[in-house]
Amino acid sequence: MNLQEITSLIVLKAFPDLLQERIHTEYALLEDSFFEYGILGKDYFIEVKKSLETVDDQIVIGGIAHELCHIARDKKKGFFDSFLYKHNKYYRYMDERQTDLDVVLRGYGKNLMAFLKFRETQTLSYENEGITLIELEKLRYTRW
Ligand SMILES: [Zn+2]
Repeated sequence: MNLQEITSLIVLKAFPDLLQERIHTEYALLEDSFFEYGILGKDYFIEVKKSLETVDDQIVIGGIAHELCHIARDKKKGFFDSFLYKHNKYYRYMDERQTDLDVVLRGYGKNLMAFLKFRETQTLSYENEGITLIELEKLRYTRW
């Protein structure tokens, strides 16, 4: 499946709050992460590390669902949230963990798990601040 199709399907299924947005998803030569998102004018974009072209769709779906949760959360953020995000490390840490929880609540926990398991097999130059695999395993029994 191509990235744009994956994104549209996830939005249709689980992000009614993003139906009006234009979100472009494409492969890019990312160095510090597997997925990134941003805003360009009024459009959002999601970039997927080029090396993920060959991995299972489930992994990519997990990552894109995570970025869509960031976008949905950002839409609701006010000036104070943006200020804290910029200046407070703990706020950013909590924001990242809450984003992963949102992925689970929106029904993509299984895909997030596929992505976290994949990420464990990779060497990265940055630290992950989202929820851990062990925490995700526990959530599995409460809501999947
Ligand atoms: Zn994130």
